[in-house]
Amino acid sequence: MESAKNLPVAVIGAGPVGLAAAAHLLERGLEPLIFEAGTTAGAAIEHWRHIRLFSPWRFNTDAAAVRLLEAAGWEAPRPTALPYGGELIDNYLAPLAALSRIASRLQTRARVTAVAREGLDKTHIKGRDTTPFLVRVEHADGETRDHTVAAVIDASGTWSTRNPLGSSGLPAIGEQAAGDRISAPLPDVTRRDRASFASRRVLVVGAGHSAANTLINLADLAREEPETRVLWAVRGDSASKVYGGGDLDGLPARGQLGGRVRRLVEAGKIELHTGFGISSIKSVDSSVTIGAVDGRTIVADVVVPCTGFRPDLDILRELRLNLDPAVEAPMELGPLIDPEFHSCGTVPPHGAKLLAHPEKDFFIVGMKSYGRAPTFLLATGYEQVRSVAAALAGDQESADTVHLELPETGVCSTAAGTSCAVPATTSVVASDAESGCCAAPEPVLVGFPTGVAHGRSGTNN
Ligand SMILES: Cc1cc2nc3c(=O)[nH]c(=O)nc-3n(C[C@H](O)[C@H](O)[C@H](O)COP(=O)(O)OP(=O)(O)OC[C@H]3O[C@@H](n4cnc5c(N)ncnc54)[C@H](O)[C@@H]3O)c2cc1C
Repeated sequence: MESAKNLPVAVIGAGPVGLAAAAHLLERGLEPLIFEAGTTAGAAIEHWRHIRLFSPWRFNTDAAAVRLLEAAGWEAPRPTALPYGGELIDNYLAPLAALSRIASRLQTRARVTAVAREGLDKTHIKGRDTTPFLVRVEHADGETRDHTVAAVIDASGTWSTRNPLGSSGLPAIGEQAAGDRISAPLPDVTRRDRASFASRRVLVVGAGHSAANTLINLADLAREEPETRVLWAVRGDSASKVYGGGDLDGLPARGQLGGRVRRLVEAGKIELHTGFGISSIKSVDSSVTIGAVDGRTIVADVVVPCTGFRPDLDILRELRLNLDPAVEAPMELGPLIDPEFHSCGTVPPHGAKLLAHPEKDFFIVGMKSYGRAPTFLLATGYEQVRSVAAALAGDQESADTVHLELPETGVCSTAAGTSCAVPATTSVVASDAESGCCAAPEPVLVGFPTGVAHGRSGTNN
């Protein structure tokens, strides 16, 4: 950050990883400038505050953020408890964002619309590495302003860009026109959004954690509002990936959720349609007809798209990125998390080196760093931003020594047929350059992928 030394570091997004990045930058004596599109920190999680996390508190908080909070008298929640999204906000993110050291650097209702090098478009190389970044922001007052910063950490997540329902990665024919029949990805069907689902025919599409939660909540709703019909479409030939190992599953959170979904299907409370790759959607009066590639149709009143998410790369168009062509994660990270080849969320700890782009001092972190892969865990993101802050501060040794603590035993199998057992609660320290899939895995996936692209085959749907 030579010539831009005294400028702040822009952090895009005040989710858990963006706020953690700010905490690490502060510890390093760097000045964060946090832009959050929503009205509060944790704005994306606000949409799923009614959903329970599948990893316990001790893996959901960042060490530097906790140090800031504890200095202000904050008491950590019980480490083994599984919080709801709302609790993650109320008991951790909101208090963190309210600390004066964070609040004074956080701008809400501030949406980043573009990032570039000041005075240089993407094609210009001369002096690029030492030229400050320009971050264009739409502010709450309706004005758009350019901010000059030394470095940029993009922690803007993927919530705002869900995968389409169509099975080719494109919207199904008619999907946009039928937009008013398609809900948010994780509606609160029994409370906040109840009126839109009670006594309706609801089609849930997808085969991840979000689909399982929504199906269970819809079945609860149908008990109270018997006219409600719960329909479920998955592209794969069976829903076994969602069911997991049921009550015998080595991962209890996954087993319980999957077991409940299976019992509801077997009891006829959920009508399952397998092999249903969606090709078209057509609104007819107050209902919608969903067509499959093989000609089958389902008629519903509302569609819930639990199809996973993809990164918004448009705002980064003027930057020189190096992304994996399939997963849209940083090039070297992509193969380690590609859901076509990895059956679980196991990746090595990694940091600034693995996340680097040709654009010096620019990093994508958090959920967005996984691109289209659905298996991101907060603990991974917290280690990413610790390493990135160290790198920006010039502490390369600390940046390159990546650590991760493993919560429990898990097994990672790859398409190549290899697998490896991960020892229980082990601290892993690895060089960012040396880590490999089975050498140094991260916390095992305690649950399903948080969203699964309906269009991917052979993985989770
Ligand atoms: C239902 C669900 C359950 C999950 N459960 C777990 C779990 O149990 N354990 C676990 O480890 N992980 C879990 N995850 C995965 C992941 O940890 C979360 O998605 C987490 O919220 C990711 O944090 P983040 O900070 O990277 O992104 P987000 O939380 O998505 O935060 C990004 C922030 O950036 C803001 N933003 C977006 N675009 C812009 C812009 N252009 N300008 C400014 N601000 C912008 C958003 O408003 C948002 O506040 C879960 C995810 C989901 C969806």
